[in-house]
Amino acid sequence: MRLVLLGPPGSGKGTQAARLKEYLQVPHISTGDLLRAEVAAGSPLGLQAKEIMARGDFVSDEILLGMLEDRFARPDTANGFILDGYPRNLVQADALGVLLDKIRQPMDFAVQLEVPTDLLVERIAGRAKAEGRDDDSPEVVRNRLDKYTSQTAPVIDYYRQHGQLTVVDGVGSLDDVFSRLIEALSPAKEVG
Ligand code: AMP
Repeated sequence: MRLVLLGPPGSGKGTQAARLKEYLQVPHISTGDLLRAEVAAGSPLGLQAKEIMARGDFVSDEILLGMLEDRFARPDTANGFILDGYPRNLVQADALGVLLDKIRQPMDFAVQLEVPTDLLVERIAGRAKAEGRDDDSPEVVRNRLDKYTSQTAPVIDYYRQHGQLTVVDGVGSLDDVFSRLIEALSPAKEVG
């Protein structure tokens, strides 16, 4: 199963992807996690990305594509993947299409986790307390949500226009949302 998970910060993408990974037995590729690992390692890429991420801005398309190409070159992606946090703009959506064509791994689904904005702000505030992510402060969260609306929301329209979009209601308990995701990804849906 080759899956792209779309949704704003706080929509539960990361949490659901971690569960889906167990269920589908494919790797969870989170570009945010890959970048945070670079920052933690103090690599040149990490040093470049650190400030950008702390502001809630986007790291360059070029860096992201290079990172993804490296990640897809690893053998564990042969049976599929769950991509989380990419694409975040239309340039990345095009780049992903080209990359997946090249490695002959066409995407099965782009899934949008739909959550109203007021709930996102609430969830991120809770996560800020629990995890202490330095890009979860109120001003940075506002910037991340603005970036999502201006740059990432068009990606959803792009997949809708290409007939590849599945929308899943992201409101409710983790179990409820997970059940909806599984239902949306069931083989019957894949054919239709
Ligand atoms: P996330 O964990 O997906 O919310 O990502 C955390 C941060 O990493 C984002 O706010 C961006 O600064 C950066 N980032 C992650 N994925 C991307 C991407 N596809 N393009 C640009 N920047 C990204």
